[in-house]
Amino acid sequence: MKLDILAFGAHPDDVELGCAGTILKEISLGKTVGIVDLTRGELGTRGSAEIRDQEANAAAEILGVSVRENLGMRDGFFVNDEKHQLEIIKMIRKYKPEIVLCNAIDDRHIDHGKGSKLVSDACFLSGLMKIATALDGKEQESWRPKLVYHYIQWKDIKPDFVVDITGFTDKKIEAILAYGSQFYSATSKEPESPISSKNFLESLNYRSRDLGRLVGVEHAEGFTVERYLAVNSLGDLL
Ligand SMILES: [Zn+2]
Repeated sequence: MKLDILAFGAHPDDVELGCAGTILKEISLGKTVGIVDLTRGELGTRGSAEIRDQEANAAAEILGVSVRENLGMRDGFFVNDEKHQLEIIKMIRKYKPEIVLCNAIDDRHIDHGKGSKLVSDACFLSGLMKIATALDGKEQESWRPKLVYHYIQWKDIKPDFVVDITGFTDKKIEAILAYGSQFYSATSKEPESPISSKNFLESLNYRSRDLGRLVGVEHAEGFTVERYLAVNSLGDLL
């Protein structure tokens, strides 16, 4: 199955937190989107790998993505080496996306920056014909995504461009709250974590409002790029 957009996250919930609004919007515009989680988030302070598997499936259903896969890499300890790059390359060649979305280039959680570089390196390597991969016994063709965009997570990274997600924020929050073990709830007895506070949950709304305010819409999500963005004509940005 070919997809238009493939979104990678180091942990289940990274994609939702970073770019759920954009995914919902692209799907509403007729694009096909898939999610690949690198780890099961088994080191998370709250919940467990099994709980997060269920939460990730529920969130995928809310978003309406075509597929969601988990590569089962080691939370906290995966590295950017040949073995891990080949696992990502197999996913890129399987789904042949034009656009790849991946973690923030730098963040509080070390897996985010690591996952960002790992996916970005694999996007390049995936285009090299002499790197052989096979899936289910079938040789894969090389494929390089045209664009790699990094979403923004914990740290306030200055975006290179923003996407208007007005009208998609309620569904975005619904997808995020599918991770019931991770985020704020007045009745949870789980230990506190940096993302379980009420402030963090509210920050999702005020960040998208602030980015929206700056470009004259209600809500927006920001991304950074690896190379200059190009337009055909100055009018394209109107
Ligand atoms: Zn994460």
